[in-house]
Amino acid sequence: MQHRHLLSNEIDLLLDGEAGFGVAPLRAHVDECADCRARLEEARVVADALERLPHLAPRPDFADRVLTRVQIVEPWHVAAVDTARRFVPESRPLRALVFAGASVASVAVSASAVWIAFSANLTLGSATVVTGRVRSALVYGAQQGFESAFGAGAADALRANGSVAVAAAGIGLLAAVGAAALGFRALASASRRRGS
Ligand SMILES: [Zn+2]
Repeated sequence: MQHRHLLSNEIDLLLDGEAGFGVAPLRAHVDECADCRARLEEARVVADALERLPHLAPRPDFADRVLTRVQIVEPWHVAAVDTARRFVPESRPLRALVFAGASVASVAVSASAVWIAFSANLTLGSATVVTGRVRSALVYGAQQGFESAFGAGAADALRANGSVAVAAAGIGLLAAVGAAALGFRALASASRRRGS
């Protein structure tokens, strides 16, 4: 027989009527130990009571109804990208144009976020914990936006050196403006082709 009292998972095994290799010594212990027999009996009473409770199934739309009440907090840069995606048109030249416009906007937003963050740093000097948090949230968001626009390498540069980031943002802005111009040209030639 087993020379210690049963653990709760061993009592569960006996309750479930398991007949595995390890169960025989447990059963032997219960036969000789009044304490464990009492615990097993108690567990059986609880399990039977639970089994007698009405079995309920949630309505099929339960999960949907719960989720409509859950407020999901999205980081602002994710929300911005999702919103932008909704405005992406089907035609390719228009698409290029919208993407170029969106990159101009995202660079502008990132740059202003970085600017706000750095000027907050300058004016406040020893910033409080709250403004520190706001600033790091802004910088983090700007980095995420930057990273999605220009890749991880550019974001590393942003982390490493503020002025490099400003320069990169400027170059990015120029590139986006150039892409916008190309998009306009493609759009114009596409509509000319359609017109002729
Ligand atoms: Zn025992």
